[in-house]
Amino acid sequence: MSALCLLALVSAAVALFAGVTWGLTAFIVGVLLLLGWHVHNLIRLVMWSREPIGTPVPRAAGSWGQVFAELNRRSRVSYDMRERLSSALERFHDASQAMPDGVLYLSDSDTIEWINLKAEQHFGLDHTRDIGAPVTNLVRQPEFVHYLQAGKHDEPLIMTSGRRSGLTLQVQIIPFGDDQQMVLSRDISQLERLETMRRDFVANVSHELRTPLTVIGGFLETLVDGLDDYEREDVMRFLRLALDQSSRMGRLIDDLLTLSALETGAPAPAEERIDVAALMQEIHEDTELLSAGRHTVTLQMEGDGVLLGSGKEIHSAFSNLASNAVRYTPEGGKIDLVWRVDAQGAEFSVRDTGIGVDPIHIPRLTERFYRVDRGRSRETGGTGLGLAIVKHILTRHQADLRVSSKQGEGSVFSVRLPPARLMALPAR
Ligand code: ADP
Repeated sequence: MSALCLLALVSAAVALFAGVTWGLTAFIVGVLLLLGWHVHNLIRLVMWSREPIGTPVPRAAGSWGQVFAELNRRSRVSYDMRERLSSALERFHDASQAMPDGVLYLSDSDTIEWINLKAEQHFGLDHTRDIGAPVTNLVRQPEFVHYLQAGKHDEPLIMTSGRRSGLTLQVQIIPFGDDQQMVLSRDISQLERLETMRRDFVANVSHELRTPLTVIGGFLETLVDGLDDYEREDVMRFLRLALDQSSRMGRLIDDLLTLSALETGAPAPAEERIDVAALMQEIHEDTELLSAGRHTVTLQMEGDGVLLGSGKEIHSAFSNLASNAVRYTPEGGKIDLVWRVDAQGAEFSVRDTGIGVDPIHIPRLTERFYRVDRGRSRETGGTGLGLAIVKHILTRHQADLRVSSKQGEGSVFSVRLPPARLMALPAR
């Protein structure tokens, strides 16, 4: 029964027992009380509406109780929705900030609306200062401005950063919504460097192959044009020189194939047990054979043991260093091959009293085709790839190469192998 009906009934009862005046008075007092209660609840409602979102709705009895309960339900639903939305927005913000690419939102007038950390770094922008500014006032490179304004965004733009030298960016514009645009930027400096290296490598290989090929071609042409004009001895000399050049091409191709097998994800070296004493003996003999008595070659062993790794690769790396010592040490020089085991692992060193290297060249010696003296390298049958191969092999065995040298006095090329690559010799 509603409060008003109850009041009417009570007032009628009072009128019946105490007279109409009292009944009327009771009714007016009742109406005033009822009105006061409604005003009171209305004030509570207004006060609540001024509280922060999420404040619970006040409780009340009767019809106000129902109103408040409904409001409470709706307020909870909308509060949960807001919470979900704001946490989704926060997640989106965090994800955009963590992205490895730059993201920049532009409004229809190309002003910056939002920017993530990477884009700030790529374009030299600062969100606290630059939001709301036209992007073309801040990123002024003509190629970027033209790309933005041309409206053809199928292909990305490759541009260098105007703010940071050595930074190459790939920029892609993606239109969305009502005339809005998203600018994605990616740092491709490393890719560019690799591409330059690849181009240099192809140019170097072509040059290295062309030189002997030109020599062979020249001899053959000379012989074709006038075989009868030459003595047999001259012809033999030409053919021998051509043969030398073809062996040089063969060596180059072998080294290229070795390098490519090492580089293109060849499986990790087999964990063979390499008998160090036998390996050193073999390297010593090979070095003496290559030197053909022109140098004094010694072998010193301070501890032996068993080495874990690929026998073929380790042999190739060690003999490369030894053969370099022969090739870059003039006749009468001394070459020492030293194997030493210590607490930090093992070391294989090749010491020579050869021409040495100016220390400025040392950091680049393991680059492909890097030679201090191209002519000398060629004369001695070098391909410029030996130390690059050595470095790859050593990296695959967690070993490193150390070089110390003095021009005109000699060099020491040392390989340091970690203890994990060593095994003690089984008791005999
Ligand atoms: P190359 O076939 O030219 O010898 P490497 O990669 O083996 O190629 O060596 C690169 C360069 O390092 C050589 O051209 C040479 O200038 C220098 N080099 C290597 N070993 C020695 C050494 N023992 N003494 C002096 N220079 C050396």
